[in-house]
Amino acid sequence: MRAIVVHGGAGTILPKHLTKELETAYLKALRTAVKAGDKILAQGGTALSAVEKAVIVLENSPLFNAGKGSVFGANGKHEMDASIMCGLTKKAGAVAGVRRVKNPISLASAVMHKSEHVLLAGSGAEDFGKLHGVRMEDESYFYSEHRYNQWQKVRGMDTAFLDHNVDISDKKFGTVGAVALDNEGNVAAATSTGGLTNKKYGRVGDSPLIGIGNYANNDTCAVSCTGDGEYFIRGVVAYDISALMEFKGLSVDEASKEVILKRIKKIGGEGGVIAIDSQGNIALPFNSTGMYRGYSRNGEEAVVKIFD
Ligand code: ASP
Repeated sequence: MRAIVVHGGAGTILPKHLTKELETAYLKALRTAVKAGDKILAQGGTALSAVEKAVIVLENSPLFNAGKGSVFGANGKHEMDASIMCGLTKKAGAVAGVRRVKNPISLASAVMHKSEHVLLAGSGAEDFGKLHGVRMEDESYFYSEHRYNQWQKVRGMDTAFLDHNVDISDKKFGTVGAVALDNEGNVAAATSTGGLTNKKYGRVGDSPLIGIGNYANNDTCAVSCTGDGEYFIRGVVAYDISALMEFKGLSVDEASKEVILKRIKKIGGEGGVIAIDSQGNIALPFNSTGMYRGYSRNGEEAVVKIFD
């Protein structure tokens, strides 16, 4: 049994604002990411390699708020966060606030494989990346006109916005993530984001935090989150789903729904998760109007969706 699930962010994505062309472009990008991950699994690759590959595809697409296409912070910079975790070894790697790393998920992977640490931040993380041959780009690589315009609408305000929720009638893009199960029965999770539009003061969200925006454990599940980071941090979302399975015997579907549709909603958080257990059961609940998502099991045709 093998399976891969991806997401491209959740939030207030209104059908009336999505043109047919844009919808087609999203669905195509999600399908490409699912296929890229599944190809690795089909060749006997690990869940860890599959989630990294799927996230790289989404980071390289300007449609999503990760890698190229990341949102602007209040300082006019792109500061990206990412994390990756292996459900077999429970090893994890993460980076926060990096500005010049082409694929933050690969830097997170390098932190996991080549350092004694779990989370590196800012210029130190980039120095580590350079030392290990991780590809850097000029800051202009991350520029995109639509993100710039999005930021102009809220520039100078005191608030940070989920990229989908800035009042933009035609552009709603998101954080990306992937979870997978490989033929060996191992699960893995990866998450990558540009964070919130207009964020300040070195704000770090849930995405690079292990147990919160990302978590993997063969005994329970692998989880990747998207949504209001501050609420997800306070709700310890990814580990909460795993703990409900481990300590209360809930299924991956029940646990994910309990956290996203009840617990996080109760404290005011908007967003969703993708989750998979070691039997290949998957869950993709969200409490927002939409979540870009897709999956494939055993090489079957990818299923890709935005709304319910
Ligand atoms: N969770 C991300 C953050 O708060 C944002 C998102 O999912 O779009 O940084």
